[in-house]
Amino acid sequence: MTYRIMIEGTVQGVGFRPFIYQLASQFKLNGTVHNGVQGVEIIVSCSKEELEGFTQAITRRLPPLSSIDTLEVAQIESRDFSDFQILKSDNSGEKTARIPPDVSICSECEKELFDPSNRRYGYPFITCTHCGVRYSIIYDLPYDRVNTSMKFFKMCKACEEEYTNPLDRRYHAQPIGCWECGPTLKLIDNVGRVPLIPTNEIDKVVELLSEGKIIAVKGVGGYHLMCDATNEEAILKLRERKQRPAKPFAVMVKDMEMAREFGEINTLEEKLLTSRERPIVLLQSKGNHKGLPLQVAPNISRIGLFLPYAPLHLLILDKLQHPLVATSANVTDEPICTNLEDLEKLQGVYDYVLEHNRDIVNGCDDSVVMVVGEQEVILRRARGYAPVSIKLPFTLKEHVLAMGANQKSTIAIGFENQAILSPHIGDLDSIGSVEYYEKNIRTLERMYGFQADVIVHDKHPYYESTKVAILRQAQEPMTELVEVQHHYAHILSVMAEKQLAGKVFGVAFDGTGYGDDGNLWGGEFMVCDYEGYERVAHLNYFKLLGGDKAIKEPRRVALSVLFDLYGEETLALQTPTTKAFSEVELRTYFTAWQKGLNAPLSSSLGRLFDAVASLLDVCQVMSFEGESGILLEALYDDSIEGYYGFEYKEGKIDFLSMIETLLTESNASVAVSKFFHTLVEMIAVIYAPYDLPLVLSGGVFQNRVLLALVYERFPEAMISNAIPPNDGGIALGQVVSSYHFFNSDADTK
Ligand SMILES: [Zn+2]
Ligand SMILES: [Zn+2]
Repeated sequence: MTYRIMIEGTVQGVGFRPFIYQLASQFKLNGTVHNGVQGVEIIVSCSKEELEGFTQAITRRLPPLSSIDTLEVAQIESRDFSDFQILKSDNSGEKTARIPPDVSICSECEKELFDPSNRRYGYPFITCTHCGVRYSIIYDLPYDRVNTSMKFFKMCKACEEEYTNPLDRRYHAQPIGCWECGPTLKLIDNVGRVPLIPTNEIDKVVELLSEGKIIAVKGVGGYHLMCDATNEEAILKLRERKQRPAKPFAVMVKDMEMAREFGEINTLEEKLLTSRERPIVLLQSKGNHKGLPLQVAPNISRIGLFLPYAPLHLLILDKLQHPLVATSANVTDEPICTNLEDLEKLQGVYDYVLEHNRDIVNGCDDSVVMVVGEQEVILRRARGYAPVSIKLPFTLKEHVLAMGANQKSTIAIGFENQAILSPHIGDLDSIGSVEYYEKNIRTLERMYGFQADVIVHDKHPYYESTKVAILRQAQEPMTELVEVQHHYAHILSVMAEKQLAGKVFGVAFDGTGYGDDGNLWGGEFMVCDYEGYERVAHLNYFKLLGGDKAIKEPRRVALSVLFDLYGEETLALQTPTTKAFSEVELRTYFTAWQKGLNAPLSSSLGRLFDAVASLLDVCQVMSFEGESGILLEALYDDSIEGYYGFEYKEGKIDFLSMIETLLTESNASVAVSKFFHTLVEMIAVIYAPYDLPLVLSGGVFQNRVLLALVYERFPEAMISNAIPPNDGGIALGQVVSSYHFFNSDADTK
C-alpha cells in the first residue's frame, strides 16, 4: 500500500529530509520525501505495520532543531518505488511552513573549527545542517539556497559533494561554504572603506581590541560594536561616542567559566546561556561587577551576559581571552545596522569594521531573557527565537495582521490556528525605524504569501503603528480596521500563549497605554475573556506634567504627586524632587498642574515607579527607558519587611498616603523595599474577591524584584514565557482580539 505522510512544523532547514532518508533506509522503505510550502511530504509504499513503526520513529527521533505540529497520514493510489529519493522542493500552494530561526554553532562544527587538520580550520562561517544562520539570510520560502543570500556563492567541488550526500552532516545545509568558496572577512577602517589586508583578520582584530579600539563586527542579524570589556578607557570612549551615558552594555564571554567570573548563575540560567538560541541573559552580577569596570553597567546590580554564537565570535574570543562589550550597532532610535551604508552613520563611533560579504537579508537583534524563580521571562524576542509561531486557542476565519504598539514594537500575522510573530523591531520614534517596521511587515507577507482581511492596531491615535494601519487600509479598502485597547491586548497575549479560556483576572502594570477615556492607563486590573473586558480597578489618576516629557523625567511625575499632596505648599518644600527644579520652573509647573495645561491624566504604574525614584533622589532624569525601575531594583533589601498603607475605594487606588509615609523614611533601601511590598499588597487586596486565574502583563513586570515578590505571594500567577511581557507581546494579543469582532469558530477549548 502507498501512504502520504504530511508533516507540518519546524521541518525545513533543520536536516529533516536526510533524517527521513536515513530512517527510510533503516526501515528498508521505498518512496520519496520533499519540501513543500506547508512542510514536508513523504510518500512510502509499505505495509500498515511498517508504516506505524516508521511514523513512530519519526516522532521519537526528531533532529535537534525540528519540531512537529501535525503529522497526517493518508492512503493514496498504490505506487511502486525501486528506492527512496529526496525530491526537489515544491513551491505551489499556500505557504505555511515555518521559517527556521538562526541558531548558534553546534559542538561538531566547533570541534572542526579548532581542528588544524580539518579543511575548515579557522573558517569563520563554518556551519552544518544542525547549526548556523537561517532567518537572517532568507528572502523567501521554501528554505533553499536559491532563496537565501548564499545564492551569490558557487559551491566548490568538496562542498557540493557534502551538500548532495544525504548521509553527510552538511546535506542541504544551505549556508554551506569553505575557505575555497564561501563568504570571506574584510577588515576596513572607518573612513573610505580602506582595507587593512593583514595576514589574518582575526589576529589583527584581536590586536586592535587589545589596544582599546572599538570595532564594528558584522555578525548574524546585524553589526555589534565591540571593545574589550576589561578596558575602562575603551568603554568610556564607546559611551561618549555613542552618547550613551548609563544604559548597561551586554558582555559576550568566551565560555561558562568566564561567565561565572562575572555573574551569579543558577541551573536554569546556565541552560539559557548555553542553549542554541544563545540569548543575552540578565544575571545578578558578582560583587559589583567584580573584574569588570563599573562603567559596563553603572549603578545597577545586574549584568547581561551571553556566549559566542557565531564561529566568528568564537575565533575572536579564543584569541582575546577577555570578555567583550558587544552592543547592537544602531543610531539612537533606529533599528540595528545590517549593511555598510547604514553602519557608516556611526563612523564616529567605531575605529574599524570587521566586514563580511554574506548579505544580511533580515535584521535581527540579540534576544534578552531573565530568570525569575522558576520562570523564564523573555524581554526581547529576536535572534534564535524569531520568527516564532504560536498556536492559538481557536481557529481564525480571517487573515489578521496585528500592528503591535509603538515601543519595542513587533508585528504578527494570524491565520487558521496560528500567529507568527516578527522579531523585535524596536521603537518607532524615527523615520528610519518606521521604514524598517514596514519592511518587516512586507517580509512576513511575502514569505507567507499573506494578505490581511483584518488589520488590528492599538487604540492610541498617534502611534506610528496606528498611522501605518490607517494608510494600509486606505490603500486596500476591502480590509477591515479594528482597534484594541493596549492593556487588554497585554492580558490577551498571555491568555493566547497559555491557551486559557473563560474569564481571567488580569493585572497590567505598564508604562503608558491609551485608555478608553482618553487618559494614559498603566495600573490596570481587568476581568477579561476573548469577548471583552471590564476595568475593575486602577491606580488613581495623576497628572503628567509636560506630557511626553514626563515619561523621561521622573522628577516631573514626582512633582505632580507632591502638588496632589501639598498643593502650593510644595513650592517651599526641601525635597530632592523640588531641588531638581529652579524656582521659576516650580512656579510654572504649579500653574500647569492647577490648570491642567499639557498635563494629561495617567494611572500608570511605570510612572509611579518614576515618582518614587525621584522622591528618593535615585533618578531625576532618565538617560534610557526603564532606568528608574532597575535603579530601584538595586536598592531592594529582602531583609526589610512591611508595606505602606493605601486606600482602595470603588475601584480606585489612592496611593498618596503611601507617598506621604515614604517621604518620612530616612533610608532609601527601606523605602524602596516597602514600596515593592505595597504593590504586592495592592494586587492581593483587589484580587481577593475574585475566583479567577491571575494573569500578569505589562512592561513593569520586567522588574525582577516585583515579579519575584508577586510569585512568592501568588505561585499560580501566570506571565507569558514565550513572548515578552512588555509591548513586544502586544501584537499577539491584538491577533487574538480579532476573535471578538469576527467570532471565529466558537470552539474555544
Ligand atoms: Zn554545525
Ligand atoms: Zn567549498
